[in-house]
Order: sequence, then structure tokens, then C-alpha cells
Amino acid sequence: MKYLSILGSTGSIGTQTLDIVRQFPNEFKVVGLTANKNSDLLLKQIKELRPKAVAIMDKSKVDDLLNFSSCQVYSGIEGLNRIASLNEADTIVNALVGSIGIEPTYHAARNKKNIALANKEALVAAGSVIMEEVKRNNVNMMPIDSEHSAIFQCLNGKNINEIKKITLTCSGGPFKNYSREQLINVTKEDALKHPTWDMGNKITIDSATLMNKGFEVIETHWLYNLPYEKIEIVIHPQSIIHSLVEFQDKSVIAQLGLPDMKIPIQYALSHPKRFLSNSQSLDLAKIKKLEFKEPDFEMFPCLNYAYEAGNIGGTLPAVMNAANESAVYAFLDNKIRFLDIPVLIKRMMDNHISIKNPDLHDILQTDKQTKEETKKIIEAEIV
Ligand code: NDP
Repeated sequence: MKYLSILGSTGSIGTQTLDIVRQFPNEFKVVGLTANKNSDLLLKQIKELRPKAVAIMDKSKVDDLLNFSSCQVYSGIEGLNRIASLNEADTIVNALVGSIGIEPTYHAARNKKNIALANKEALVAAGSVIMEEVKRNNVNMMPIDSEHSAIFQCLNGKNINEIKKITLTCSGGPFKNYSREQLINVTKEDALKHPTWDMGNKITIDSATLMNKGFEVIETHWLYNLPYEKIEIVIHPQSIIHSLVEFQDKSVIAQLGLPDMKIPIQYALSHPKRFLSNSQSLDLAKIKKLEFKEPDFEMFPCLNYAYEAGNIGGTLPAVMNAANESAVYAFLDNKIRFLDIPVLIKRMMDNHISIKNPDLHDILQTDKQTKEETKKIIEAEIV
């Protein structure tokens, strides 16, 4: 039996994780849950799953939960950190979105909890400090992202020194065939129509700018300790091959499956075992064709920014991540246009002098300041 704290239990990954928990009541028990504002759904989850403790980020929603007295209720970031280090939990599923996931991931590692990680922003912004804690405390960090789950399965414990390169596949998002002129006027409704995956709003926009794939490059670097020159991207619109590893003898191993997040979520929880899945089987004859092409770094400059931020390191990836986060939410609020997102990221990166070997405090400060400055620029240019 694994005892789980699920951070972000009301979101897309969080609710799919709970579906898996429901399917395997003898394998998993939920002891902690968290949400941002959605107290109605969190309350339903509390009543059904009877966790030991929960946290809600929005302090004004605490009273909505307190009437369910058998469960401890925390709030704010301190609350998230508590649920990430709960005594009763052995595994933390981090399904938070954005840099709010940095501190809870760090605390989970410090408290020797195994981590199933969906929250890629934590590794992008704070990979060095988080991985240091992961190694120091001998924590098992399992990826939930389908690409990183694929790499994990392809490697299957093989010697990392034998890898020639890793290729991350990328659907290309909804705008893969657009010209620059067409991109100028795309709306949030256009950007939210992802061709192959059904996900939360922020990652869907990140997938449209390809920032998401840039994040995954940095995530790969930290999870598999691989230099950036050995991490490549290929556009694969069908999202059937989830990633590939080429070894030095030129043998290539890939992992395939239908685009269904329940498969990698379940594997992150069941590893080293494989449980029976309710998901649909892949039928390649029905898929008919698998296509591949090189990504266009000029049309989607966020890919360049990710390699640049990753290679320079320090606090620069935290700046890129924070600027992106503010820009994406401004785009979702109709305050900026789609093409303003990469412009804002570049502007914030160009203005930053990276702190080498940052500690957690440096990264959190950089995140906060960058978000404030990005918002100021957005507001000033609107007025
Ligand atoms: P969602 O937006 O669907 O869910 C996010 C969850 O985090 C919700 O529970 C939300 O609570 C909570 N949350 C949001 N903001 C805050 C905050 N400031 N403080 C505390 N809690 C917060 O996101 P997804 O499930 O789509 O994505 C989660 C992570 O997984 C992201 O990092 C994403 O990149 C990654 N990922 C997602 C995939 C997917 O298929 N969705 C695939 C691969 C990776 P509330 O409901 O109350 O707002």
C-alpha cells in the first residue's frame, strides 16, 4: 500500500490521479490533498477519500472546508508545504501548476518522500536545488510527464553514459502549420484547442508556444543528468511515440501509446510493477501514419530561450519560467496577444544577471520579482 498526498488534486492531472486511486483501493490510500480555490471539489474529495489533512491556497476558502471536522485543514504556501511533508504520506504526487510547486517539491524531498512529478515548472526554475535534495535524501523521483515517463521506460536502468541522445517528441501544438502572419491574431480560444491532449489551460498555452517543450528539455536535463547538446526535439503530430533514446551503438528505443495521461500517471504510481489499465490499447493499423519533422525555432523562439536558459543556468531558468507564467495568464485574461508571450520572456531574460549556484531563497526571490516586473510591463503597456 502506498500512502499518497496529492498536491493539486482538483486539476487535470490531480483528478486523473484520483481515478487511478479509485481503481486500485488495495494499492493506494490518499492521506493529503490540496487545491488553490476550488473548495467545492476539494470538499467532495475529502468526503469521499477521508484524508488526514488538506490545504487550500486561498485563505478565504478555509471556512468552506472547516465544517468537515475530522480532517485537518491548512492554508497558503505553508499549508501546501505541510501536505508535501505529511508524516502519514510516503509518496507525494505533485500536480500543481506553475512555480508555486517549487517549495512543496523541495520540502517533499527534504522529508524523504518519494515524488511523482507532473509539476515541470519546479524542475525548470529550481532543478539544481531540488535535485540536490533528491540525491541527498535518496528520494525516488518518478516523472508523470509522458515524455519523461517514456525516457524512464526506455532507459530501464541502463547506463546513462551509453546514451548518444534523447529525442523528445512534440505534437507541434495547434499552430504547427501557421505562418507568422497567422500567429499575430490567434485568440486564446484558438490556442486552447490542443490537437492531441486534453490538459489544464496553462500547459495548453505552453504547448501552443512550444514553451512546454522547452520546459521538457530542461526537465530532461535534471531528471537524467544529460547535457543539453544531447537533448533534441522532433515534431510528431500524432503524439503516439512519447520519446526516444538513442544509445552509442545507434540502437534507438522508443515508448509508444495513445495520448492518455492516465498511462504515465499510473506507471509513476505503480513502478516497479505494472498494473492492469482501463485505457484504450494502441492499434497502429488504425493510426495509419506516424509523421516527423524538425521544429521551427524561428517561429517558436521559446525553444531557443529554453536551451539558452538551461545552458546558462543559475537563476535564468527561473526568470524564463516566471515571465512565461505571468505572460500566459495575461494572454488568458485577454491583456496581451499570443506573440507578446515570447517577447516578454526574452525581455525579462535579457534584463537579468543570472546568480550562479543559487539557493532556494534566491530562486524564490527571482521568481517573485520577475512576475512583479512582467506584470508591471503588461499593465503599463495596456494603459
Ligand atoms: P490544472 O490547472 O488542471 O490543475 C492545477 C492544480 O493546481 C489544481 O488543483 C489547482 O487548484 C492547483 N493550483 C493552481 N494554482 C495554484 C496555486 N497558486 N496554489 C496552489 N494550488 C494551485 O493543471 P494541470 O493538471 O493541467 O497541470 C499540472 C502540472 O502538470 C503542470 O505543471 C503541467 O505542466 C503538468 N502536466 C500536465 C499535463 C496534463 O495533461 N494536464 C501533462 C503533463 C504535465 P484549483 O483547481 O483550486 O484551481
